[in-house]
Amino acid sequence: MNVLIVEDDKLLADGLKSALERASYKVTHAGNGLVADQQLRAYEFDLVVLDLGLPDMDGLEVLRALRQRKQAVPVLVLTARDGMDQQIESLDAGADDYMEKPFDLRELQARVRALLRRGTAEIREKVELGSLQLDLFQRTATLDGKLLELPVREFEVLETLVLQSPRVVGKARLNQRLALHSEDIGPNAVEVYIHRLRRRLDLSGVFIRTVRGVGYSIENLK
Ligand code: CA
Repeated sequence: MNVLIVEDDKLLADGLKSALERASYKVTHAGNGLVADQQLRAYEFDLVVLDLGLPDMDGLEVLRALRQRKQAVPVLVLTARDGMDQQIESLDAGADDYMEKPFDLRELQARVRALLRRGTAEIREKVELGSLQLDLFQRTATLDGKLLELPVREFEVLETLVLQSPRVVGKARLNQRLALHSEDIGPNAVEVYIHRLRRRLDLSGVFIRTVRGVGYSIENLK
């Protein structure tokens, strides 16, 4: 597995590199955004660990350029502490996961493994589940060709479920996704949005199943 680490902090880059090499990955290091961009154009990687604050070309630009070229390599973004805006921006730009600095190397390794298991990133523009269609770029949903007027958080919940379908998505993960848009979400926020989505999807054949104590999955029953 080839991993590209994009990090201008030499010490951190060295630490990351040796941790990933110990886990038997082949690691390439780019110390600034331009070099990263060149590397990504020239070579195939299985995963990119991308710092956002970089000299020459910042991490978000590198990420946007990558996705514009339709390269689907999974990207794990490293953000500054309390970088909530950065996290949202990086997810919107096509990151698959993010970690806040400082982080535990073991957690990083676990996330790297998870991303590699999942394989290439989703850069599909549209996903369908039965009569439901989501446009991931426009952030809109239609049911039987009719536009659903979904508030942003409802869309987020629906998108998370549909992209994982038919796998079960943990409640914590949905909560985390909602927290990207606002910190003051109530303890029952997920239930509330699931309830609203179920009402919208009623009789469509697309069904949100509750898996007690775990989370939810969405399936097409037709
Ligand atoms: Ca940096």
